[in-house]
Amino acid sequence: MASGDPDATSVVLWTRLAPDPLHGGGMPDQDVDVLWEIARDTEFTDVVNSGIVTARVEDAHSIHAIATSPASEGRQLFYRFRVGDHISQTGRTRLAPADSVDTATFVSASCQNYQQGFFTAHRDIAEQQPDFLVWLGDYIYEGAAATVGDGEIVRTHGTPEPMDLAAYRDRYALYKLDEHLQAAHQACPWFVIWDDHEVENNYAGIVPQDAADAPTFVSRRQAAYRAWWEHQPVRLDPPPETGEYRIYRAVRWGDLIGMTLLDTRQYRSDQACLDVVLSTAPACPETFDPTRTLTGPDQEQFIVDTVGSQGTSWNVIAQQIVMADVTLNGAVLNYDQWDGYPSNREQILRHLEDNAVPNAIVLSGDIHLAGVAVLKAQASMGGADGVPVAVEFVDTSISSSGLVPPSFAAVVTSFPEIVDAELAHRGYTLHTVTRETWTARYRIVDSALVPESTVSDYNSYIVDAGVPAVRIAVT
Ligand code: FE
Ligand code: CA
Repeated sequence: MASGDPDATSVVLWTRLAPDPLHGGGMPDQDVDVLWEIARDTEFTDVVNSGIVTARVEDAHSIHAIATSPASEGRQLFYRFRVGDHISQTGRTRLAPADSVDTATFVSASCQNYQQGFFTAHRDIAEQQPDFLVWLGDYIYEGAAATVGDGEIVRTHGTPEPMDLAAYRDRYALYKLDEHLQAAHQACPWFVIWDDHEVENNYAGIVPQDAADAPTFVSRRQAAYRAWWEHQPVRLDPPPETGEYRIYRAVRWGDLIGMTLLDTRQYRSDQACLDVVLSTAPACPETFDPTRTLTGPDQEQFIVDTVGSQGTSWNVIAQQIVMADVTLNGAVLNYDQWDGYPSNREQILRHLEDNAVPNAIVLSGDIHLAGVAVLKAQASMGGADGVPVAVEFVDTSISSSGLVPPSFAAVVTSFPEIVDAELAHRGYTLHTVTRETWTARYRIVDSALVPESTVSDYNSYIVDAGVPAVRIAVT
C-alpha cells in the first residue's frame, strides 16, 4: 500500500491484491471491489471520506483511488483498505497545503537495487516522518538473478531479466515485499518518476542499450511502463497501448515549493559517442549538435512554462541525472548525464537566468553518490565561469552499489561547479525548507551490505533564499 501525488484536496491511495505476489499475484480471474477509508486518526473514528473502487484483472488487481478529503489541506491523514473480511495495515499520508505554509520537510531518494544492498535507508526515512518523498528513479532494477556472495550481492532477484508484463509485475512484487520499503511508503505520500532501470539500463527513447534487443524493445518498454503505473501511487492514467506515455508534471506544496518533475528517458536523443563511459578523449562533435535533446521539445516548453511560474518561494526541478558540468579537460565522462546534452542543459539554465527565477533547486539521483553543486548558465565547458542560477542536490543510492570509487573523491570535488561529494555510502537526502533557507541533510547508511545497519548524518548544506550558493554545516 502507498499514497502519492497529493494536492490540496485529494491524494492517490494505491494498493494491489496479490496473495501470491511472486507468481502473477494469485488472484482469481475476476474483478474485486476494494473499500478505501481516509481518516484523521489511526483508530478511524474520524473518517473524512471512503469509497469503493474496482481492482481489475487487467490492472493486475491494482487500484488508484483518488481520495478527496474535504477541509484537510496540509493535514496528516491515515488510510486503509478493506476487501471482504480482510483489513489492510494503516498508512500515514498528508494533503498538500492549500496556500500559505512556512516550512516543509521532504526526502529525495533513488536507486534501490534489491540485489546490491538492504533497504535500511528506507527504515530511517520512515522514522523521520517527512511530509512527502520524491522518488527520482530506479525503483526496480531489471538485472537477472545474481548469486548471493558474488561481489556485493546480498540477495537475489531470483528470476531472469524481465522482458514482458508478467515478469515486470513479479519484479515489482519482489521489491514491494521489502518491509523497509513498505514502511517508507506507509510513512508519507510519494511523488514518483522513473529513470532507466524501470525498463533497461541507459535506454534512450525507443533505442535499447543493446542493439540486439531493438526488434522487441517498443513492446518491452510498453510492458515496463504499464507495470510501473500498476505499482506506483501516481495520479496518471494507464499508459496508452501504443506511443508515448507522459509522466512529467508540475506539483506544488502550498506557496513554499513549486516542483516540476521530469522524464529524461523517454524523449531523449540516443547517447552521443556510443555512450562510452569514463573516456578521457575529447568529446566527439555529435555532443554539441544543437538538435540533440534530453527532454524533447514539448517537455522543454513545459519546463519553461512551469519552473518559476507557480508563485512559490522555491522553484524545484526534480529529475534523474546529474546536471552539473563534470567534464574533464574537454572529455565527457558520462554521456548519459546532462553533460552529453549540453545544448539542452544551457536552454534550461538560460531560462532560469533570463527570467530571474528565484531560489531554483535541482534534485538528481542516478549516479549512486552524494553531491552538491552550483549550476551556472553561460559557462564554458568545464564550468569554471558563468552565472550561478541554481543549486543541485544529488542524492546517493538507497542500496545500489557505488559507481565511482571513493578514491576519486578529490577528483569529483575538484570540478568547478561541485561544492562537495561523498562517494562511499548509500542513503538519501532530507530537505527542510523554510522561506529563508533550504537545508539539505545527507543521511548515510554505515553499510547497506548488512541488515539493520546504523544510519547517521553526513554534512548538511544550506542555501539562503536569494543567493544561488551553498554553505556547508559539517556534523
Ligand atoms: Fe541507479
Ligand atoms: Ca539510472
